[in-house]
Amino acid sequence: MRILLVEDERPIAEFVQRGLEAEGYAVSCAYDGEEGLALARTGDFALVVLDLLLPKLGGLEVVKGIREKNAGLPVIMLTALGETDDKVTGLDLGANDYLTKPFAFAELLARIRAQLRQPGQSSGATLDVGGLALDFRTRNVNRNGAAVDLTAREFELLAYLMRHPDQVLSRAQILNAVWGYDYDPGTNVLEVYIGYLRRKLGKDGDEAPIETVRSAGYRLVSADA
Ligand code: CA
Repeated sequence: MRILLVEDERPIAEFVQRGLEAEGYAVSCAYDGEEGLALARTGDFALVVLDLLLPKLGGLEVVKGIREKNAGLPVIMLTALGETDDKVTGLDLGANDYLTKPFAFAELLARIRAQLRQPGQSSGATLDVGGLALDFRTRNVNRNGAAVDLTAREFELLAYLMRHPDQVLSRAQILNAVWGYDYDPGTNVLEVYIGYLRRKLGKDGDEAPIETVRSAGYRLVSADA
């Protein structure tokens, strides 16, 4: 599936492109509104991720231009804090959703998946790994049938680990995916949240299936040892 990314800030464009490609999407980037609109109108894309403040042609004009030709192409806007009025206008003009910068990649991915999901199609809405079940629509998580109450960030972290079962994921990979491109590399926030997850998932003496892989990262184990 091909996604068009219209974003003039190169570090953000690269961050999003890398993340989406790692998830199996093909991504084309446009760095100004004119190029973005021209590409959107080619019909080659399943979805557009659109920044609002763009050179040459603003994001709102791009949404309008897309909607003149294509009513069904999903558009997710990226807005900065303080652009509330533009956000509302964008939704009025036909954008499907928006995210406020800075955002975590996992959040963008969830919005994209929601837009690309056909009505009635459930694939991608739930994850089942090693006794853990997670539902993106209801945000419910349970382990061996028992409900586990997670915060939004804990949910995103667990979802990311569950999407890559049995893989060793580095700290940088996880921080990028769950906390976004502007995390502090010296942060211990990941260790803290892994601790929260282990505590919440590991009730009743049954250890949480999240392994620390020494000087490499973390791994969610799918089968009981
Ligand atoms: Ca911009």
